[in-house]
Amino acid sequence: MIFKLEHSINERVKLPEKYGVELYIKREDRIHSFISGNKYRKLKYNLQEAQHLGFKTLLTFGGAYSNHIAAVAAAGKAFNFKTIGVIRGEELQNKINQNPTLSFAKNEGMQFEFVTREAYRNKTSESFLNHLENKFGSFFVIPEGGTNDLAVKGCEEILNKTDKDFNFICTAVGTGGTMSGLINASNQNQQILGFPALKGDFLKEDISKFVSKSNWKLIIDYHFGGYAKINEDLIGFINRFKADSNVPLDPVYTGKMMFGIFNLIENGYFPKGSKILAIHTGGLQGISGMNTLLKKKNLPLIK
Ligand SMILES: *Cc1c(COP(=O)(O)O)cnc(C)c1O
Repeated sequence: MIFKLEHSINERVKLPEKYGVELYIKREDRIHSFISGNKYRKLKYNLQEAQHLGFKTLLTFGGAYSNHIAAVAAAGKAFNFKTIGVIRGEELQNKINQNPTLSFAKNEGMQFEFVTREAYRNKTSESFLNHLENKFGSFFVIPEGGTNDLAVKGCEEILNKTDKDFNFICTAVGTGGTMSGLINASNQNQQILGFPALKGDFLKEDISKFVSKSNWKLIIDYHFGGYAKINEDLIGFINRFKADSNVPLDPVYTGKMMFGIFNLIENGYFPKGSKILAIHTGGLQGISGMNTLLKKKNLPLIK
């Protein structure tokens, strides 16, 4: 068995009493220093499967700031797999050192295949995968973002028995794998709320493929214009939240989720007496990359 994963701690987030609700945050960001949060959960059974099938190499796909790329690189190093990252954007080839995510992944031993955006769209075509196999030898493919049946199974382990007391469980959503695992592990009387980090009209359908319950809902008002798009309101919120609670949030996923939760609390969305659990899915490695972009735009930085 290559993985031993503990349950993470729920920390109380202080809120003004007038709201009449309790908010806790599950620190999945703390389960490993480099294989962060939900990415670790999603990789667990995929890596076991790869090992079981005798693969020595993992191959996956992602953008220049991808938490998934960083996690696969680190997991490969930790569990003795070679790793290959197919990266969207040919131009990044010469900019690895300026990009904290790619430099980190390279340091963990990941080899890269940089491709044009057009080639990236066809990244799972047979001809492209054959080309990669000729170049790198055989490999176990982990999908972009890491979501498949085995990933959902891993995410079912985020919740434990004592979490049954919560009325609402909230998570950020990218591909929906994490949310699917939470839904499968939930009780029928709990509501799972997903906060998409992007305009994802396809998400409802995608999640439905992995779940059979109906106690869930996507809250689609807090994507801030799209994936990895942020503004000064969000930066201000993330910095205040850290100053008040000592919990860092990432700008792409957990910051948007928590912004949304606070907004809903202020608007009286949750009935009085509700106990809310927000999953901290990690992603903190993305802060320095985002700060590089913010600096160029002369915007305030994430502290
Ligand atoms: C990848 C990621 C998500 C999205 O997870 P999905 O399973 O793709 O929905 C959420 N939060 C963080 C921090 C992530 O890195």
